[in-house]
Amino acid sequence: MPGPAEHRHRAPESADALIAVSGLPRIEARALLEAASGRDRAWLIGHGDETLPAAAVERFRRLVAGREAGRPLAYLLGEREFRGRMFRVDESVLIPRPETEGLVDWALELPGPRVADLGTGSGAIAISLALERTSWRVAAVDASAAALATARANAARLGAGIDWHEGDWWTALPAGSQYDLVVSNPPYVAAGDGHLERGDLPHEPAMALVSGKAGLDAIEAIVAGARQWLAPGGWLLLEHGHDQASAVAGLMRAAGLGEISVRRDLAGLERLCGGRRPGHRT
Ligand code: GLN
Repeated sequence: MPGPAEHRHRAPESADALIAVSGLPRIEARALLEAASGRDRAWLIGHGDETLPAAAVERFRRLVAGREAGRPLAYLLGEREFRGRMFRVDESVLIPRPETEGLVDWALELPGPRVADLGTGSGAIAISLALERTSWRVAAVDASAAALATARANAARLGAGIDWHEGDWWTALPAGSQYDLVVSNPPYVAAGDGHLERGDLPHEPAMALVSGKAGLDAIEAIVAGARQWLAPGGWLLLEHGHDQASAVAGLMRAAGLGEISVRRDLAGLERLCGGRRPGHRT
């Protein structure tokens, strides 16, 4: 083996060369090459100058082309990490985002055991809660059958037991049921918001992102049902847009919820709003 200071011959179809000429940020190129080659990071570094199998090189080039065309890295890799667990993702679900981890953190401070996640997408929130509070009974709702299939597969792989319900928000849940804790990261982007044209958003499901003129339609529907579907003393926690906190808090107040508070995300933006149905837990 040549020492690090020596000039090493680098095969053009080696990991080092492919990453260097890909034109992508190294971290992305490396992740795509791991997926294309089936080799982990340590192997690719240790064998950086060796020619990779032609099939892996071909797969890598296709992934790079997809990335250059703007496809989200998470969809190309087929997975994204959330709270230390890997979730499968595809075009039917929103890519889990770090700001949503704060929603889970907040939920874990509150009592169950009857918990619902409205608009579960990949299942990242519901599955995290079910795995981190094994005494909770977690229901998850989504209007998209394709999203529910992805979420179910994630739950099966990660070993979480969830009650799945297909349909719109509360109406998908069993009639007459009530919950101690309801969480949701609903669509909250305003239709026509320029943000939708940027980054990963053009490739993500519009139904997971866009919600009417002000981005508040889904949140209004969820808050409107809260008093009926929350058990007395039960909590509703919502993720929302960076400029929606006062609107969401106002909706919660108007719907008769109390103890309303707002929390910020890692970027310092007001991102979460929680409120509680008055009354004593029974
Ligand atoms: N946080 C996402 C974004 O603006 C939107 C997710 C959502 O609408 N729930 O990038």
